[in-house]
Amino acid sequence: MPKTCEQHRLLVLENFIGGKFIPCRSHIDSFDPSTGEVYCKVPNSGEDEVAAAVAAAKEAFPDWSTRSPEQRAQVLNKLADLIEANLEEFAQAESRDQGKTITFARTVDIPRSAYNFRFFASSVLHHTTDCSQMDHMGCVNYTVRCPVGVAGLISPWNLPLYLLTWKIAPAVATGNTVVAKPSEMTSVTAWMMCKLMQEAGVPPGVINIVFGTGPKAGDALVGHPDVPLISFTGSTATAQRITERSAPYCKKLSLELGGKNPALIFADADLDQCIATTVRSSFSNQGEICLCTSRIYVERSIYPAFLERFVAAAKKWKTGVPSDPSNNNGALISKEHLEKVRKFVALAKLEGGTIHCGEGVDQLDLPECNTSGYFMPATVISGIPDSSPVMQEEIFGPVTCISPFDTEDEAIARGNCVRYGLAATVWSKDVGKVHHVAKRLQAGLVWTNCWLVRDLNLPFGGMKSSGVGREGGKDSYHFFTEVKTITIKH
Ligand code: NAD
Repeated sequence: MPKTCEQHRLLVLENFIGGKFIPCRSHIDSFDPSTGEVYCKVPNSGEDEVAAAVAAAKEAFPDWSTRSPEQRAQVLNKLADLIEANLEEFAQAESRDQGKTITFARTVDIPRSAYNFRFFASSVLHHTTDCSQMDHMGCVNYTVRCPVGVAGLISPWNLPLYLLTWKIAPAVATGNTVVAKPSEMTSVTAWMMCKLMQEAGVPPGVINIVFGTGPKAGDALVGHPDVPLISFTGSTATAQRITERSAPYCKKLSLELGGKNPALIFADADLDQCIATTVRSSFSNQGEICLCTSRIYVERSIYPAFLERFVAAAKKWKTGVPSDPSNNNGALISKEHLEKVRKFVALAKLEGGTIHCGEGVDQLDLPECNTSGYFMPATVISGIPDSSPVMQEEIFGPVTCISPFDTEDEAIARGNCVRYGLAATVWSKDVGKVHHVAKRLQAGLVWTNCWLVRDLNLPFGGMKSSGVGREGGKDSYHFFTEVKTITIKH
């Protein structure tokens, strides 16, 4: 386990526009979450940089959009090869930039980033469009799908390269050109990927990446009249601003937002499997996954046993230096975010909740140079009413709340009693129960007796305040293309 702090040169990033790295006039600080030190300078782009990137994307569109899906797929597969060839370097960088463990970046973030390119390179070859009956009023009617134009892509900090490539891959596979803006807090792996573009054969201007803050660079992208489509993943509050800002232009919007995801655990659940998976679903990636479980409802007859075993398992979920492979969690993204998460725990205490383990109860044993890092142990709370902000608001940290229920109807009603509707898990061996509970839950994704099993062909997205639209094989194809109906009289 590394006990000493390594000194690194300050990393200075540049925008990637029209196939070239372009220095920016001003920069913002980016912190290493495990030490609290500034280690990287990120371009503080604004309207000018965004305008240059949109112009480059516009120029590249006529050529790229008329290439065949096979030609575009070849480029995306090559990019995937290059990411895989540099997997370890990407994993180390993602961990340093975001605070997550290297193990998580190595086994989840970076392999999935490469796979996103491979998946859409393949998927785009297999779509078909519609044709009506051959002789409808003496005409043949059929549809074609065309790329939309310059796509604006905005992504968050929790799964940086993973979520950015989840947007870039379908956008360019379907023939659009893009201007992407990663989170200002986690820009490094996107910048590293730009270095691979030329070798992958990505023509200049097809993928442009502009770095900077949301209110400046993000706002300029959303408000640019030549960007007809915005794909956004982030918070519900930002999505509201993006919706307002883009309304005058009637842009196509895809919004993947926050969650407050329930787990409904019935008395007949396989508790070994359920507890192991629910600890993982509550705390993986420091709880900084939009799909993480944050409200656990347990049938009263098994509640005491469940609580005891769950807390014991949560105590074993280790938090510490991201490079130590024995740690399950690293550091949270920022000082501000850590404070926000801690405030929820303080509020839970104030409201009379019991903190079984984690924040305020357990101390972390950190090396000297990590004592200013943004670490927080896995925290389990009980005894909080559903009306509390702790049970209603997205905390997005390693915090989960447990509460007993008596009936199936009650469990469903309480699972649905928040403004979010992204994901839910249901634990029961009764197949019939699993089906009808899943059907009544207001969530875009319901996992039964498992969590985070994803077939990328199927829709991903949220109901209510968790989003608008769906992503995934056919859904991304539909979002990133416009359909046209052609009628030919013969
Ligand atoms: P955020 O909304 O603060 O920022 C997301 C992105 O939007 C960043 O790139 C940011 O710079 C940009 N942005 C901020 N203000 C903007 C503006 N006015 N105009 C344009 N762009 C702007 O979210 P975050 O804190 O980075 O990410 C955490 C949130 O993301 C959580 O709510 C989490 O649930 C959500 N999330 C959702 C999914 C999903 O698929 N549903 C996946 C991951 C994260």
